[in-house]
Amino acid sequence: MNPHLIGLRCSLCGMLYSPGEVTYTCPKDNGNLDAVYDYTHLSQHLDSATITHNPDRSIWRYAPLLPIVPHALPHTPLASLGWSPLYRAPVIERELGIRAVWMKDDSRLPSSSFKDRASAMVIARAMEMGTKTICVASTGNAAAALAALCAGTGLQAVIFVPESTPEAKLAGILIHGARVYTVRGSYNDAVALAEAACREFGWYNRSTGINPYTREGKKTAGFEIAEQLASQGRGNEGARGQGDGETGFRAPDVVIVPVGDGNIISGVHKGFRELHALGWIERVPRFVGVTAALSPSFYRAWQLGGEQFETIPSQTIASGIGTDRPCDGVMALRAIRSTGGIVIEATDEEMLDAMRELAMKAGVFVEPACAAAYVGLVKGRRMGVIGSDDEVVLQLTGSGFKDVRSALRAAGKPISVESLADIRP
Ligand SMILES: *Cc1c(COP(=O)(O)O)cnc(C)c1O
Ligand SMILES: [Zn+2]
Repeated sequence: MNPHLIGLRCSLCGMLYSPGEVTYTCPKDNGNLDAVYDYTHLSQHLDSATITHNPDRSIWRYAPLLPIVPHALPHTPLASLGWSPLYRAPVIERELGIRAVWMKDDSRLPSSSFKDRASAMVIARAMEMGTKTICVASTGNAAAALAALCAGTGLQAVIFVPESTPEAKLAGILIHGARVYTVRGSYNDAVALAEAACREFGWYNRSTGINPYTREGKKTAGFEIAEQLASQGRGNEGARGQGDGETGFRAPDVVIVPVGDGNIISGVHKGFRELHALGWIERVPRFVGVTAALSPSFYRAWQLGGEQFETIPSQTIASGIGTDRPCDGVMALRAIRSTGGIVIEATDEEMLDAMRELAMKAGVFVEPACAAAYVGLVKGRRMGVIGSDDEVVLQLTGSGFKDVRSALRAAGKPISVESLADIRP
């Protein structure tokens, strides 16, 4: 346990619990819990150079800001994951007339999705508690991340996924030896069943929105973006940027994140929020959340202006962001509203088109849920929410190889040939 972790605060009633006191959500109102650190102490005693000079390029380089300090991680992908590449997309910058567009490419993490960050942190917590079985309800990626990162650690992964989970995601879970239950129902049904099974069998629940440590893993993407931006310089020469990177951290103007349950956006936001609390960046970027139009619960809540979510069946093909009711919606709405951001909807067709555009223009092959971020970029620019002088980061969340059926729909067909006569130059 990090000695500077003060406790877990309920997002609804504000109650502060000690980390050993509660395991999941607030016992009073089921609110999502948020880890709170002694930022005053840390800002006075933690030099950013301690982190930026650390030769370890895994998420564990941020140990002073993480809830768990792992002592002896096994030599599996768990020990080395993190520091996914941050690269620019000059063709997209030129086409949309935006000063700088960066891709934070988490499709390159060990199990090819952002979820590795969260699963790693929950596994570290399980090891700290001496738990042997970790369970998760997932639309596929969180489960694949848990299965892959449990491999070789002696921990057993138990998975609940909806029947509609894309085949490639199932393969990526089963191959690591996880026990997999396909639930005849929705993702939210899988969440409920996993929760009941954890209660019954004493398994540790990693499910998004229930386990408070997933956000702690996800915030490392925010740390990395800020550190990579500081080391790679700012957009165009002479343009205004936030801060001068003297601390080794620099914030962009805008971060765009696809939103399902809302745990990724609230996690990446938390990374920046903490860097700001430590005085290492001057301000927190604006957060743009992109939802699937056919998974409307989050967008409705955003429009209504409150923090209440209706349960509305999701019908999107974008499995990664399809949810009937977001499991971490309150913190996600706050991340967006508190930074002056916005929520943008993407239709299934727009996401499929965006898959092809990203693949052709930026050289990155992503799944539909992830491509939603690009839809948000294009629409946000058109709406004027993203300006020509902005420096924008797209959080890429998952590989296109995870959903081959959608990829084939987006990509079109090859040309069948037999001889030279069939080929037109
Ligand atoms: C899980 C996931 C998301 C959305 O994350 P939430 O925390 O559910 O908002 C986006 N893209 C991909 C590929 C995902 O797997
Ligand atoms: Zn509460």
